[in-house]
Formats: sequence, C-alpha cells, structure tokens
Amino acid sequence: MVKRDYYEILGVSRTANPDEIKKAYRKAAMKYHPDRNPNNKEAEEKFKEAAEAYEVLGDQTKRQRYDQYGHEGLRAGTDFRGFSNVNDIFSSFNDIFGSSFGGSIFEDVFTGGGRSRTRGKPQTGAPGSDLKIRLRLTLEEIATGVEKKLRVKRWKTCETCGGSGAKPGSSKVTCKVCNGTGEVRHVSKSVFGQFVNVSTCPNCNGEGRVVKEPCETCGGDGRVQGETTIKVNVPAGVAEGNYIPLRGQGNAGLRGGPPGDLLVIIEEEPHPLFTRNGQDILLDLLISFPEAGLGTEIEIPTLTGRARLKIDAGTQSGKILRMRDRGIPELSGGRRGDQLVRVNVWVPTRLSARDKELLKELEKSENIKPKEGDRSANSDRSFFEKMKNMFM
Ligand SMILES: [Zn+2]
Ligand SMILES: [Zn+2]
Repeated sequence: MVKRDYYEILGVSRTANPDEIKKAYRKAAMKYHPDRNPNNKEAEEKFKEAAEAYEVLGDQTKRQRYDQYGHEGLRAGTDFRGFSNVNDIFSSFNDIFGSSFGGSIFEDVFTGGGRSRTRGKPQTGAPGSDLKIRLRLTLEEIATGVEKKLRVKRWKTCETCGGSGAKPGSSKVTCKVCNGTGEVRHVSKSVFGQFVNVSTCPNCNGEGRVVKEPCETCGGDGRVQGETTIKVNVPAGVAEGNYIPLRGQGNAGLRGGPPGDLLVIIEEEPHPLFTRNGQDILLDLLISFPEAGLGTEIEIPTLTGRARLKIDAGTQSGKILRMRDRGIPELSGGRRGDQLVRVNVWVPTRLSARDKELLKELEKSENIKPKEGDRSANSDRSFFEKMKNMFM
C-alpha cells in the first residue's frame, strides 16, 4: 500500500512551522477521535494516520529525514518503529493534549478491555481467554426477559498468592535476560542502516519479572480451575445467536493478567405450539365446522397465559386473526409484536350413524357448499397472498 504524504494528511504546507503542524494535528485528532466516531473504522484509520504523520513532522530530526528521503528514509531509521500498537498513539496524543478524553472508552474500542500494557512497564502475565457459554431459553422467557444463573467452569485468581504466582513471603525477581524490560532487541544491518527488532522476552514472557519460589497452590500461574455461579439478566426480545458479553467474567489471566470476557450465546428452544417470525408468533388453531359457521369465542394459549379469541360467524379455514401486542417485544424496548392465529376448520374422521344422518340432512341445504365458481378460490385472498402476508 502506498503511504500518503504526511503533509497532505495534516493539510499543511511543506514550509509549515512546528506550531502550525501541531495545530493541524490537534484539529485532525479531535475530528477523527474514536470517542466522537464510535465504531467507525474509517475514522479510526484517519486518526492513526494523523498520529503517525505528527510523530514524524512534529519531530525536527525525523521531519528532516522525511523531507530528504520520504517514507523510505524513515523506515531505515533506527529510532522510528512506527506505531506497532494503538496505545502508542494514545500516549503521544495524551502527551500533547492531556488525557481529557479519559481512558475507558479507548480500552473498549481498541484493546477489548485494556489488555495491552504500557510498553516498558510489564507487570503481569498473559490475559485470560474469553469463554463462551450457551443459554437455552423458551419463547416465554424471551417474551418477558429473565434472570438466569449459570454454572461456569473457568480459571480464577489463586487465593493463596493473590494471583502473583509467587509463594507467600517470597517475591518476584527481575528477569536476568531482559533486565526487567520484558523485551529483547536484535540489531540487524541493511543497506538503509540498522534495523532493531524488538520481541517479547522468552524467559519471562514479557513480564519483566520471574517468580523465584512458585506458589504451591497454583504452581506459579497465579490462577486455578474453579466453578462459579454467575447471574445474567437477559432482556426481553433476544433472538437465537444474540450474545451478551459479560466483561471480565472469562478466564483469569496468568499471574495477575487481566481476565477475559464471558460471552453468553442465546439459543431459542423450539416451542411446542408457537412458531416465531421476528417479533410475531404464529399459532395454528383447529375449530369445528359449526364454530366456523356460527361464530364463537375460544380460550387459546398465548406467551403470557390464556386469552379469549373471538371467531366471527362465517370465518373461512386458513384465515389469519391478529391479536395485537401478544408477541415478542423489540430488544430496544420498543413495540411488542403480535400473535397471529391461523384458523383451520377441522374435519371429523369418525362419525356415528346419527352424525352421518345430521350431515346428510345439512347437505341438502343450498348454503352449505361453495358456489360453483368459488370452489377454486375459497376466499378474497389467494393462498400465496396469505402466506406472504403472514411472514411480512
Ligand atoms: Zn497461587
Ligand atoms: Zn525477561
């Protein structure tokens, strides 16, 4: 990828003085700051780009080298590593403008919960991993929202050593390999000059300190396996595949490293009666021919108990009746969906001699059968229109 010109990024001329450059960077940083552009990848890129441009143009030596050799000249330099992690950008940003934006949102946006640590001051071990747990819910629970208790097996902080991994009374000692920096440097030479490669110290895993006498409970890891009960509040209106992130409720990190998250993934139990379609639920209802012909009122199940439904005289089989606000609410707490009831006229299969007599008597009436032209279109709307309507 071709890098954009740093002057162009900040929108300043090549002869701009340090003050103008600083002002331009401040403007760009404020404009594209992640706090003001949440979940905006493009703004995040622009923010990083501006920070990188300022890192160079704001420094007299780097600016001279850039003016003379362009981007290539910087890559060859020994003291310019670029921004390998976003925290570098924020420390440079905060150095200049102060940390008026606070820190918690940065952590959420960029590091998924503040996992990366400040360079040069490693204190703890690797962060704990995220955990996923499936939670099966009935439609009734989804309709009202529910509080659930979950049994979770996870790594938790060792109580004996408080997570440090060191035997109580003993302390950690500075790593001899990296002298406590957590990093090891390799210098290599090329036509452009020296390259400095920085990698994590293998002896202390970047922590800078090593446990001299490991804790006997956890063997030096600072964490042990355990089982915990966690309460989770599920809001009304969730759907299959939604998940609820519980920050910091995942596995404990190594030797005091930050914990991972627990993701509760929602599963929807198939309901014996209802089919869900978004916020609406559908119920198939069987009624008798006399009920359809004469009209009636029937008690039927809903997600929140039984309710009465009026069937008009002359209701056709297949008609869909809508019971307002008996469905599932929007997750955002907005409107409730409806319960759709599809009426089906049930046909008896076992008839007594008396039943047959009555039906034969009924059959003599002109009103009992569809008119010749109506047989292939038994209502005002076709089957497909109804289906479409039902799943709108
Ligand atoms: Zn321990
Ligand atoms: Zn080390």
